[in-house]
Amino acid sequence: MNLILMGLPGAGKGTQAEKIVDKYSIPHISTGDMFRAAIKEGTELGREAKAYMDQGKLVPDEVTIGIVRDRLGQDDTNNGFLLDGFPRTLAQAEALDALLDELNANVDYVLHVEVPQEKLVERLSGRWVCPTCGTTYHTVYNPPKEEGVCDKDGTALIQRDDDKPETVKKRLEVNIEQQKPILDFYNDKGYLVTVNGDQAIDQVFHDIDQRLNNLR
Ligand SMILES: [Zn+2]
Repeated sequence: MNLILMGLPGAGKGTQAEKIVDKYSIPHISTGDMFRAAIKEGTELGREAKAYMDQGKLVPDEVTIGIVRDRLGQDDTNNGFLLDGFPRTLAQAEALDALLDELNANVDYVLHVEVPQEKLVERLSGRWVCPTCGTTYHTVYNPPKEEGVCDKDGTALIQRDDDKPETVKKRLEVNIEQQKPILDFYNDKGYLVTVNGDQAIDQVFHDIDQRLNNLR
């Protein structure tokens, strides 16, 4: 069961990833974790990646691919894997394809958790924080008892620039642009499975689970 999980920020990808790896006992391979492990173990690629990161530069695709290659070569991936946060570019998607060919493997599904953009803006821009005690609230999911006021100390809540709807919208649009060619690439290959992420968490997982059952 070789899976790739895709979705925009706020789509609930992390929650679904946990549920998938829990039920199917496959490793959750996130790029961030892989990088941290490679750096900690001091592998050659880990050292290279660290050098770029220390300079505040993007790690080049060939280094990233090398780290993914090392990770997919480990024994715990024999029954499959869930890739999360990778590929991030079309070049990475193509390189992953070539790498899986080498390993005599292929992608089974690319699960795309899809949520309408306006819903994502609502989810991501509803965050308010108390400047006195640091408690965070969400206008929809965790509202304060009185609008705009901290439950604990009565301070007026503020919204960080990053959480403002205009900022969130811009960030999402950048992400959508980056994701589109990757989704098209996998759609052309017939791997893409679009899951409606605009539902209760358990319902989203139920839909994913039904597709994954076909693989067993
Ligand atoms: Zn407070």
